[in-house]
Amino acid sequence: ARPAAAEPAVDLSEYKGVWVYVEQFQGKARNVGYELLGEGRKLADAMGQELAAILIGDSIESLAGGMFASGADKVYLLEGEEYKHYSTDAYTRAMTDLIHTYKPSVILMGATNDGRDLGPRVACRVGTGLTADCTNLGIDEETGLVAWTRPAFGGNIMATILCPNHRPQMGTVRPNVFKRPEPDKSRQGELIRVEGKIKATDIRTKLVEILALADTAACNLEEAQFIVAGGRGMGKPENFELIEELAALLGGAVGASRAAVDAGWKPAIHQVGQTGKTVAPKVYIACGISGAIQHLAGMSTSDVIIAINKDADAPIFKFADFGIVGDVLEILPVLIEEIKKI
Ligand code: FAD
Repeated sequence: ARPAAAEPAVDLSEYKGVWVYVEQFQGKARNVGYELLGEGRKLADAMGQELAAILIGDSIESLAGGMFASGADKVYLLEGEEYKHYSTDAYTRAMTDLIHTYKPSVILMGATNDGRDLGPRVACRVGTGLTADCTNLGIDEETGLVAWTRPAFGGNIMATILCPNHRPQMGTVRPNVFKRPEPDKSRQGELIRVEGKIKATDIRTKLVEILALADTAACNLEEAQFIVAGGRGMGKPENFELIEELAALLGGAVGASRAAVDAGWKPAIHQVGQTGKTVAPKVYIACGISGAIQHLAGMSTSDVIIAINKDADAPIFKFADFGIVGDVLEILPVLIEEIKKI
């Protein structure tokens, strides 16, 4: 049921264009930024408006070409030493100033750690709402508004949310739910340099040192090309060492089913599925995971799925490209030894 229309909070006609905030880490744009440019392009075309990428960082102008190639008509580029690393103060101020100056109609951000920090704070500052953690986007036929879809009530329903009376319409979108568009290197666009207004002394936090990049790689499920994931069939937390060893050998990340996370065998950042992360690696190795629908919701778009399960009738085998029926605790050591020989 649609609620009765309330008075708009702002003059909606002033707000135009679709923006994608393209997050960068150490000068490299995250995949989710490109995925959202592909999706943003579709929204912008449906709305008859322009698509812009927002780049904030230090010495990152070289990323602009990739934004145009991925569908952006414009790039707003804000560079400076203060923006080298993500900080809540500097980036919130930068985004808020940009919105007040250029008044976009729609803003898409990745539902990454930084995006989840930045999005709600910016939305609050500019007096709009935000739909977090979306898994689908579209245009509502009746109103022409962006229709943001996300799991709600612990994943038991999919809710579609509209933002009728505030601007911009804002949302964070899970990485890997959309395919990265094929770049078209012949596309060109307008690069707009923007001055940052924050002073170094206004930033209340300082990044002293990045200590745990290696560990981050094992947790970086969204960008991993290889994921080795364990479920209840791993038996006990110590057995996850096999999963970790295989993931490290493949240069990949460690995933877990909710059963393994709920048992306290792995932290929640490793959970794959409807209420965990959505992943799309080249290879997903599911070890002792039954293949419940909620788990499949987070990994079924992987290019190749390999399942190891002692139950030949486990549902995961219906979705796997390759299946090994057997005890995962016997198979993983053999697999690890064989891969070490390569
Ligand atoms: P099980 O279903 O218990 O499967 C264990 C498997 O291991 C079995 O197939 C068994 O044959 C096999 N096995 C046992 N021992 C061995 C062995 N030695 N060698 C080989 N195989 C072995 N789940 C998620 O994963 N992610 C989510 O995001 C998620 N969200 C949910 C949201 C909602 C609202 C609900 C209701 C549920 C959600 N779930 C989620 C839970 C989901 O329904 C399943 O309960 C869960 O995925 C099961 O995890 P599992 O496959 O590890 O365990």
